[in-house]
Amino acid sequence: MKTEKIALVTGANKGIGFEVARQLAARDYRVFVTARKEAAGKAAVKKIGRKAEFLKLDVTDRASINAAAQDFGRQAAHLDVLINNAGIIVEGDDAVLSMAAAQFEETMRTNALGPLFVTQAFVPWLKKARQSRVINISSGGGQLDGGADGWAPAYCISKTALNSVTVQLAAALPKMSVNCVCPGWVKTDMGGANARENVEDAAVDLVWLADEASPKLTGKFFRHREEISW
Ligand code: NAP
Repeated sequence: MKTEKIALVTGANKGIGFEVARQLAARDYRVFVTARKEAAGKAAVKKIGRKAEFLKLDVTDRASINAAAQDFGRQAAHLDVLINNAGIIVEGDDAVLSMAAAQFEETMRTNALGPLFVTQAFVPWLKKARQSRVINISSGGGQLDGGADGWAPAYCISKTALNSVTVQLAAALPKMSVNCVCPGWVKTDMGGANARENVEDAAVDLVWLADEASPKLTGKFFRHREEISW
């Protein structure tokens, strides 16, 4: 019997996460659409159709992460693809010298620690898949190469930390493929209407890494299917 392919996407109620979940479902993945808001998550599941299932998951809340992992374990026996997509840029993220600690902490908790703790919680099911992959949605803003230009400092710091989380997880999980991706500048609530890329095209590159790229690729940072510098 063919083994069912299973994926889980965080922050999948809208934007890039929703589109990646939709495209994976179209490739016959059983997709766990996770979101912190139940109504929005369930509406996304309805739009995607029969291959999608909802799981409530707030990536900043350890109890929520653990509950989601337990819930997942009652419904599935393995996880092929984990996509740590949920991310934020907080209001007023524009002044590295004066930004409030709470804003930095919320950004770090969501964008860097969230993916780490979610991965920790789902490792038992990732280990049960024949070939599993973890994909962290990072950003060019996290690249150290080229320096900083003052844009969204807390966000950029959190994405640099996420890149480091990726390298650490790749080393700790040598049988898996663990990578991070910059999706480009994408038209979503976060990217805004002036962004260069539409969400469908951006998601295609992420789905490539989830479903087509060599599983031997690990500990790397990609944009548009090409490795980029840290
Ligand atoms: P978006 O439309 O704002 O979507 C962000 C998603 O993350 C939403 O589903 C949001 O849920 C969810 N989220 C935020 N905090 C969460 C939490 N604590 N727990 C669970 N879910 C949470 O943004 P997007 O453009 O699709 O961004 C997706 C990823 O791509 C992010 O990691 C972002 O940093 C990255 N990225 C985007 C761009 C771009 O140009 N758009 C560029 C580079 C990188 P709610 O609806 O509940 O808020």
